[in-house]
Order: sequence, then C-alpha cells, then structure tokens
Amino acid sequence: MEEEEERSLKDYVIFGIRIGVTIALILLGKLWLNEDNFPWYVNLIVMGAAYLVIAYDIIIKMFKHLFIEHEFFDECALMFLASAGAFALRAYGPEHNEYMEGVLVMLLYQIGELFEDLAADKSKDSITKAIDLRKEMARIVENGNVVDKEAEEIQVGDVLVIGAGMKVLADGIIVQGEGDIDESSLTGEFNPVHKTVGDKVNSGSILSSGSIQIRAERAYEDSTVAKLLDLIINSSERKSKSTRFIDRFSKVYTPIIMGLAILVAVIPPLIINPGDGSVWSRFIYGALSFLVVSCPCAIVISVPLAYFSGLGLASKHGVLVKGAQYFDTLNDLAYVAMDKTGTLTEGKFSVTKVSTYGVLEKELITIAATLESVSTHPIAKAIVSYAGSSNLVPCKDAVEISGMGVRGTYENKIALVGKYAFLKESGIQDLGEDQENTIYVAYDGRLIGSISLSDKVKKSAKQMVSDLKSSQITTILLSGDKAETVEKTALELGLDEWHGGLMPEEKISALESYKGKGLAFIGDGINDAPSLALADVGIAMGGLGSDAAIANADIVILNDDLHKVSEVRSVAKKTKNRAIFNIVFSLSIKAIVMILSIVAATMATWSLPLFVAVLADTGLAMAMILSSLLLSFAKPKAIN
Ligand code: AMP
Repeated sequence: MEEEEERSLKDYVIFGIRIGVTIALILLGKLWLNEDNFPWYVNLIVMGAAYLVIAYDIIIKMFKHLFIEHEFFDECALMFLASAGAFALRAYGPEHNEYMEGVLVMLLYQIGELFEDLAADKSKDSITKAIDLRKEMARIVENGNVVDKEAEEIQVGDVLVIGAGMKVLADGIIVQGEGDIDESSLTGEFNPVHKTVGDKVNSGSILSSGSIQIRAERAYEDSTVAKLLDLIINSSERKSKSTRFIDRFSKVYTPIIMGLAILVAVIPPLIINPGDGSVWSRFIYGALSFLVVSCPCAIVISVPLAYFSGLGLASKHGVLVKGAQYFDTLNDLAYVAMDKTGTLTEGKFSVTKVSTYGVLEKELITIAATLESVSTHPIAKAIVSYAGSSNLVPCKDAVEISGMGVRGTYENKIALVGKYAFLKESGIQDLGEDQENTIYVAYDGRLIGSISLSDKVKKSAKQMVSDLKSSQITTILLSGDKAETVEKTALELGLDEWHGGLMPEEKISALESYKGKGLAFIGDGINDAPSLALADVGIAMGGLGSDAAIANADIVILNDDLHKVSEVRSVAKKTKNRAIFNIVFSLSIKAIVMILSIVAATMATWSLPLFVAVLADTGLAMAMILSSLLLSFAKPKAIN
C-alpha cells in the first residue's frame, strides 16, 4: 500500500491469470489430489505451487522491506507469517486442510488489494475523464481547409472551428461568430455565458449554441484544462495528515500484534501443559488466526480512499483541493482572513466617472490604460476595457507595484496610475481629498486626473461570513483599500476584524501571528499570492485561467462563489467523519474476532477456522472500501 504505482491493463490481466491459476490449483488439490488418494506431499506440492503463484510478490516485497529498508513490521510480514504458519500447522495433522488455508490467506488478501486498486483507479478516472481533452479531435483551419488535429498538438495561433455542442479544446480568443459558452465542466455550475468576437474562451468549456472560430492563445500543456488536470492528479498523490497517521499506526500496531500473537502461542500452553503437543498446536493455531484477523488492511485501504473520494466530491462541486491534508486544516479552522476586491466583492469594476485636469479625457484614459495593460488587477482590467484596445500603445517599462498601482513611461515621461497613497508617496502634490473607489493618474510629475469605479459585494459573501461565524471562526478582512471603504464593507458583512490601507507585506505580517493556529486566507490571485502561500490553507477565487491563483493556493474555487467555502468545509468534515467511522468500525470488528480466536484456542472442542478469520478481514476491508467510495455520492451542504 505504500507503493502506489498505478496498474496497467497488462498488470490486471496478469493478476487475473494468477488468481485463476491459484483457484484452479486449489480445486485440483482439494477435489482430486486429496490426501485419501495420494500421499501428503502431492497435496503439498500442488498447494505450494498455488501459494507461490499468488504470493511471490508479497514475499519479495517483504524481503525488500526487511533488507533494503530494514523494516519488518508491515502487513506483508503479517500475511506471510500467517500463511506460512498455516502451512507449518499441517505438521500437527490434516484435520484443517491447512495447506489450502495458507493459500487462501494470500488469495483473499490479494483480491482485496486488487479491489482497492480498481476502486482507486476508477475514482481517479472519473475525476480526470471529465476534463481530459488530450486525445480529442479539434477542427483546425489550415490553408483554407478544415483538418482534424489532436488537442495536445494544437499550436498557438491555430484557428479552431467550433460548432454548437462541441467542446472548446484550446484557450483562445473568438475571432469569428458568437455563441453561448457552458463552463460547467470547469466550474461545476451550469451557467452559459454569451460570448462574441474578442472574448476569451477556456478549454474544457462547451459551446451550447451558436458557432465560433477561435485563435489558440496557448498550447495544450499550458491550457486551463491541462493545469486543472495536473492539479487533480497531483492532489491525489499527496498524502493527508490522517494517511500519515495510518502509516505511523501500522508501524506501532504490527509489532504489538506480533508480540501478542507470540504470547498467545506460548504462554497458555506453558501454563496448561507444556508437554502436550495438541495444546501447543491449538494455541499456535489461535495465534495465527489472531495474526490474520489483526491485519489492518481495512483501515490502511479505506482511510486514504475516503480522502480520495472527498477530493473527488469537492472537484465535482467545482472546488479543487490540492492535497487531502488540507481537509484536516479545514476541519480545524480558527481564523479566516480574506481580501476584499474580487473576493468579497464581484471584482468587476466599471468606470463611473472620469475627471481631468488640463488634459483631454481621451489622453488621460490612454495613458492609464497603457500602463494598466501590464496588470491583471480588476481595476486595471476595467480601465483597459473602458479604453478599448485600439487606443493602446505598448508600454515596455511599466511595472506594477502590488497593492499600489502601476508606474511606467509614456512618451518618455513618467506616468503613475494607482491609489491616492501611491501618488502621494511618489511626490505628487495637490492631490486634494482622497475619494472613495477612485484611482489617480499622474503624468510628468503632476496630477492629470482621476477615474472612479464601482464594484459591489457578492451575494454569497454575507452567507459565507455568517456560516464561518456560527462555527466560532474569527473573520478578518485585510485590504489595501482605503480604511473607510474597508470598514464600510466589513460592517455590511458583519466581519469580526478589519484592516485597511495595507501594503502586501503588511498583510503578511498581519497574517503571521495567526499562522499555525488554523488560518485560512481567501484571496483572488496575483496580489494575494504571498498571503495564499503563507496561510495554513490558501483558498483562491480562481476565476478561470488565473495562473497565479492556481499555482499558489491550496484550494481553488473555480466559479468564485463564496458558498463553496462552506461546501468544501462540509466535504472536509464528512471525509474526516467517514475516515474515523472506518477506523473505529474496523477495530471493533477486529477486536471481536481476535477475542473469538483466542477463546477458540482455549477450547479444545471448537476452533475458529483460519478461513473465517481471513474472510472477516477481507470482507471488512471491502465493506470499508465501499463505505469510502460511497462518500463520493454525498451531498455537501453549508455548515452551521
Ligand atoms: P489590492 O489590495 O491589490 O486590491 O490593492 C489595494 C489598492 O491599490 C486598490 O484598491 C487600488 O486602489 C490600488 N491598486 C492596486 N493595484 C492597482 C492597479 N493595477 N491599478 C490601479 N490601482 C491599483
């Protein structure tokens, strides 16, 4: 279970053949070559062959652990001891058909393993299938003709023809036509958006009506879909805190169980009658059953699988969680800090007023938009779109000062666009009063105008804040915006704490005191990247194609809907509960069967067949696997 390589189809076929051969040999040994007709060693040879066919990899693994990693205490050793012991028991008489039972121990264990792999592959598949587009065929315009090309071969600049009902196979810009784009496979929400020439479309979305041609802006490996896929695959490979707990658990559990088994085998016969071989046999048998029952595979298999199903469940609802360990952090949240613009507010600014001082409005907007074209800040996007792209002259040296604005040269003179404090610090005089939601523009050392923009609080923000507060989580708003604007938003939403006018490094130092105490940060991209990285769990309002958010956050909410914060917390809680249920239930059943096996050993008249012990173990493992898989069908709901 520690070597989690994926099995290929060939592996499955070989494994199927091994299982088939083993069963055939068991039947041969049991039904035909049994001890009444043949000497005992014929049966031993047949069952020994069956054993080797089914168990060789387990035995190799055990020796590898022992000699290379100097570790003996794992379930391979447990299974080997139990099955080898069953063979050894045959020395005490044929009444239990121990050779066959030795083979059965391994057979059932291997079937359990196979089942686990199938289940894990299946859930991984179902997650990735929905968005893996690599081999899908795109229709590309080439020399006036339309040709088919695999999605992974699309190059930047290729023009794709997309008809109604077709999937968009590249990130690009519409160059012809219009239509409704359904982005549900990326966001989890069915909400088609009408797009036309000049609009961006993302790979993975579907054109629900209309007909468009797009020019590819990125190759497949850089596309939104490839990044999401990578995120999902990598996330399932990271181990959660609870999984690590399971690793530690088996390392302690296995030696304890082995020690107990030795005690069961040795102490009672010494007390009862050390000279009586049948007493020894009974208790060794009891100890072996005890060993087999105690194998923790039900837990080792089902706990990681529960986390895996939880990840799948979250992604089905439009939330990508980079690693199962973040579920544990979400369950222990004490503080949730958040950004304002684009996170609590729509982040879709529109220019409401332009004031100029000694320049034409067109000049002011051109200078501002030229600088802002280097930024992805929502304010920058609004100014650029207000200007219209045709007005822009490329500005090579524009630099964004995070949380402040942009500085650059325009026609050989310095231009600044950004918040009041930014211009003031840069030595611009006569700025007047700082207006709410206003960006100031300076050129050649003097103020030439201001641009007012409006943004509104997201509908889902209030609900999220009240969900968090009812879970006794402290809510904190950290923003670079003017203190008054920040306070207004904080009071409107009922937040516990708020700090305005912060520089990105001040945001970081404000967060530092909460780090390690269950801190989440919710932000929306580039300027929040350091905070997202610093927090115990960084939650990004990914929006579509926001690379910085995808790279820096631990959790990405694809459609920017804050209800998803409550949903992913609910998924985290359900996942943890399922893992705990599996652990407690498995250990209880095991305890009962272990006690039964010891009771059986002390009674001369009744013995618990080893076979039953193995079934109780493998059967339990399967039930727990099912329990974990069922989690993928749960419904996350807001936590109160
Ligand atoms: P932030 O914390 O990134 O939202 O930034 C805080 C404030 O800085 C914003 O509310 C704006 O006033 C200003 N600001 C940041 N980036 C820009 C930009 N690219 N253009 C104009 N103003 C900006």
